[in-house]
Amino acid sequence: MKFHLASGNAHKAEEFRALAAASGLAVTVVSAAATGGMPPVEEDTGTFAGNARKKAQALRAKLPDDAWVLADDSGLCVDALEGAPGVESAYYAGPQGDGAANLAKLVVVMRDVPAAERGAHFVCVLLVLGPGGLEQVFEGLVGGRLEREPRGGGGFGYDPLFVPDGLARTFAELPEAEKNRLSHRGRAWARLAEWVRRRSG
Ligand code: IMP
Repeated sequence: MKFHLASGNAHKAEEFRALAAASGLAVTVVSAAATGGMPPVEEDTGTFAGNARKKAQALRAKLPDDAWVLADDSGLCVDALEGAPGVESAYYAGPQGDGAANLAKLVVVMRDVPAAERGAHFVCVLLVLGPGGLEQVFEGLVGGRLEREPRGGGGFGYDPLFVPDGLARTFAELPEAEKNRLSHRGRAWARLAEWVRRRSG
């Protein structure tokens, strides 16, 4: 099965290839760059699935009718902030989408929030568009809590602040394979992989 990835981010194609390999799926992930680039999309629907759908549809419009398209959207939802930054996670500190600035802002915003109220979860939605109007949505979620100060050099984005349930280390302190196994993206991918297996079954 060949998925065209609706993202302009080259790192994402690599990440999905690694997830496909780890789950033993015979799936090829083709970057949007390989088919002329990802069209610009405004991520303004207010939901993870809505934004993923918009990205998938934008790429699909450029491809043959029988092409399969995969899009994703993800973010961090903080209980004490009523789910923010949520769908705005990438642009929390401003439109330039600076991951370090986003993290620094969250540290400040959460400074006075007591330990018992520091719950948060990451969400990832994967959306597949296929021939004949087929659409499948897979969601992955990982719960945890936010530290007061960032820890660890791995991962990206909010990883240095987030400790998943049942562990004491932040996502940025975990080996990449362990983060991928536990993460919202890993969990959404596991659901997608299950669906691909059933289809080809
Ligand atoms: P998108 O899925 O590329 O739209 O990313 C949304 C934003 O959510 C990223 O820029 C990060 O700020 C945040 N985010 C999503 N997944 C993760 C993760 O695994 N670790 C840390 N931050 C993440």
